[in-house]
Amino acid sequence: MISGIKVDTHTHTVLSGHAWSTLQENAVAARERGLAGLCLTEHGPRIPGGGADIIPAAQNMLPKVIGGIRVFRGTEANIVDFYGTLDIGAKFLSRTEFAIASLHDVVMRPGEPTQNTDALMAALNTDRIDMLGHLDDPKIPSDHEALVLEARRLGKLIEINNNSLSVRRNSEGNVIKLARLCMKHQVPVCISSDAHFSTMVGAVENAVNLLNRLEFPEELVLNRGIEPFEAYIVRKPPPGKFSARLDGKEPA
Ligand SMILES: [Zn+2]
Ligand SMILES: [Zn+2]
Repeated sequence: MISGIKVDTHTHTVLSGHAWSTLQENAVAARERGLAGLCLTEHGPRIPGGGADIIPAAQNMLPKVIGGIRVFRGTEANIVDFYGTLDIGAKFLSRTEFAIASLHDVVMRPGEPTQNTDALMAALNTDRIDMLGHLDDPKIPSDHEALVLEARRLGKLIEINNNSLSVRRNSEGNVIKLARLCMKHQVPVCISSDAHFSTMVGAVENAVNLLNRLEFPEELVLNRGIEPFEAYIVRKPPPGKFSARLDGKEPA
């Protein structure tokens, strides 16, 4: 039984261009929800109004803990073509602690399922990318099982996006499908809010209820506590050493 999350792994502030709260407001909201951490995952520059690509690196100027909340440096990079090219380059991606790659239909027109799958597959294989965001989007069909298996091979993550259940029409069937595939193949997930306003931070009840209906095992939810989440961050190889993880060897 999943009781909730302690780290919200996907949140936006005004810097994303179409969100409404500041980092300070999000941190206060996170604290009120009883969270221990949040990932600051602003959209990359290619989303309309998106922030500069330097933002992941500029997060180095922030305190690690804001209002009692551990703020993990992150990004939600946009996939911009079927080769899986991202709008945050390696130089700035390497400065993140947690990075999501997502397809958005306002950034590029979705293709055939095989093309979308190729794009997502390549993005997931990018050094420093940890998780694919909202694969459930019915407007962007892809081969969920192939992607879940690739996440398993790479030791990476699949997102269960609470916001999809409210804003991505008809996504619930896909969220259920993704959850079942992650159970079948024992792939860890992060349950996230994809908050665009402070009251959304940590609000993941719909996703938690859905997973509990499926009897999704709590131990597969990486952000169930701050300890397993931090352990994942610490285990990550330093930038450029990603191939070491593919080998299953310790990074040099
Ligand atoms: Zn997104
Ligand atoms: Zn987002």
